Amino acid sequence: MTHLLHVLLGLAFAYVLVSFSEYVVHRFILHRMKYARLLGSRYLERLCRTHSGVHHRRDYLHDRHEGDDRVRDLSLTGLPIPILGVILVWPISSTISLTMFFFAMVYGFTWWVVHDEMHERRGRAFTRTAVYRYIEWKHYLHHRYPGSNFNLILPLWDTLLGTATSREQQALVRKEMSFT
Ligand SMILES: [Zn+2]
Ligand SMILES: [Zn+2]
Repeated sequence: MTHLLHVLLGLAFAYVLVSFSEYVVHRFILHRMKYARLLGSRYLERLCRTHSGVHHRRDYLHDRHEGDDRVRDLSLTGLPIPILGVILVWPISSTISLTMFFFAMVYGFTWWVVHDEMHERRGRAFTRTAVYRYIEWKHYLHHRYPGSNFNLILPLWDTLLGTATSREQQALVRKEMSFT
């Protein structure tokens, strides 16, 4: 029973932490050059230029890949926050800690497959699910309004920090889509 409880706690902690990492990296690194410059990091500058200057400037449906976000870079940049959580929790419970680690690894892979599907439309089976359609709509809105919807597959922090797209913005995009 305790073991199961620790696994559930690990999943809950990991969700909050990984969602936070997804949010922070996307909002403050991929969309804000000033923090990369403040830290004097050419690596972070390149990530920002690639995401804001290439990924977001392309049509939502991509037909080219050169210069776009790289899976290795995004995975490495998103890792420190969850890994710090895994290390801090280890002395309290190895089960919670390992569950968090497992969640973060699965997340990294899932994030990439889901984001790739959004821009490539390869027709993977999961695209028929309501969950996918919901998160794709949110990401489509992020591409229309880059100052909102920084969470991609784990919604939480946009709602908590007030950066979710407004009802008015969503209605406007729906209206535009009905004309195309
Ligand atoms: Zn995208
Ligand atoms: Zn973005």
